[in-house]
Amino acid sequence: VNSEFGQLIGLYEDAARLYHHVLMNTQVGEEALDYLHKRGLDDDTINTFDIGFAPAEGLLKPFFEERNVDYQTLRSSGLFIENQDGQLRDRFSNRVMFTIRNASGKVIAFSGRLLHKDPDAPKYLNSPETKIFHKSDTLFNFDLARREIRKADAVILFEGFMDVIAAYSAGVKNGIASMGTSLTTDQIGILQRVTNTLYVSYDGDDAGQNATHRALSLISGQSNMDLGVVQMPEGLDPDEYLRKYDAEHFRGVYEGAKETPVGFALRYLARGRNLDNQSDQLTYLNEVLKIVAGVHSPVEQDLYLNQLVDRFGVDKASLKEQLADIRQTQT
Ligand code: ATP
Ligand code: MN
Ligand code: MN
Ligand code: MN
Repeated sequence: VNSEFGQLIGLYEDAARLYHHVLMNTQVGEEALDYLHKRGLDDDTINTFDIGFAPAEGLLKPFFEERNVDYQTLRSSGLFIENQDGQLRDRFSNRVMFTIRNASGKVIAFSGRLLHKDPDAPKYLNSPETKIFHKSDTLFNFDLARREIRKADAVILFEGFMDVIAAYSAGVKNGIASMGTSLTTDQIGILQRVTNTLYVSYDGDDAGQNATHRALSLISGQSNMDLGVVQMPEGLDPDEYLRKYDAEHFRGVYEGAKETPVGFALRYLARGRNLDNQSDQLTYLNEVLKIVAGVHSPVEQDLYLNQLVDRFGVDKASLKEQLADIRQTQT
């Protein structure tokens, strides 16, 4: 425990306990606790995820100084910001604190969310990289989700921490999120050791759909995982969907049939196009057939062709002819 590693973990564990205490038991934390309750989180969920609050005035600095933690350790912890004179002050202030744990459940970082909209500050602020925190191999909630991922033999990739937490509270417990960036090779490797099936469940808005498209090609380029997509309707993110409907509806979506990556691509490529217009239709069909040509299973391929026949009233034989042409140029 005297190692630098153990010492840093100790600081983060203390910090998490303090932030959580401020949220649950003090007047300074009341507004944040209200906010979380209004967002539908109960105290059990807040406790499970060690959610906390970083008050406006410094909290960690006096605490650690009183315990004689030396300056260099505090400085390299990432919990503080250093001014030009080398003075430290708490990095997080006036933020709801999401605790980031490693695979063994040790606290290694935080992500702080603004309580109120502020155009001059980022909505989420993450801890910097340290000896104990490497963004690229950290997955939010992996410590709690691992058993559930094994049990379900599938993992759900969410976009935001609140989505993971909302899903967990609704009984969908095999969810994780990357650290506000796209999934890395390391993270894919970590997940693949536990399951070979991954569902992307990013936000239903445009940004989320773009990110889904990117994630699918990234993961299929780096692994042979079976992939699927679960996307909320009406541009909602999973957390918003749960609040608008209820836990039963929410679970239903995740228990139901998943969209295949090609099914998603067919929908994705239709965005922003007027498919009643013939020239848009033709461009769309061309792009889509290129993707369908890459589908190995003849049955699955037939499914997509039927979908196109139904939708555009085109002749299946001519679609097949064009598929054959594409195949020839692709090989
Ligand atoms: P909330 O529901 O609390 O508003 P969200 O999870 O829906 O948050 P999004 O705007 O959909 O937030 O962003 C998804 C994720 O991207 C966040 O959970 C966070 O990890 C990351 N993120 C968003 N904004 C920022 C930012 N300004 N800096 C760093 N990461 C961010
Ligand atoms: Mn989003
Ligand atoms: Mn979101
Ligand atoms: Mn959200």
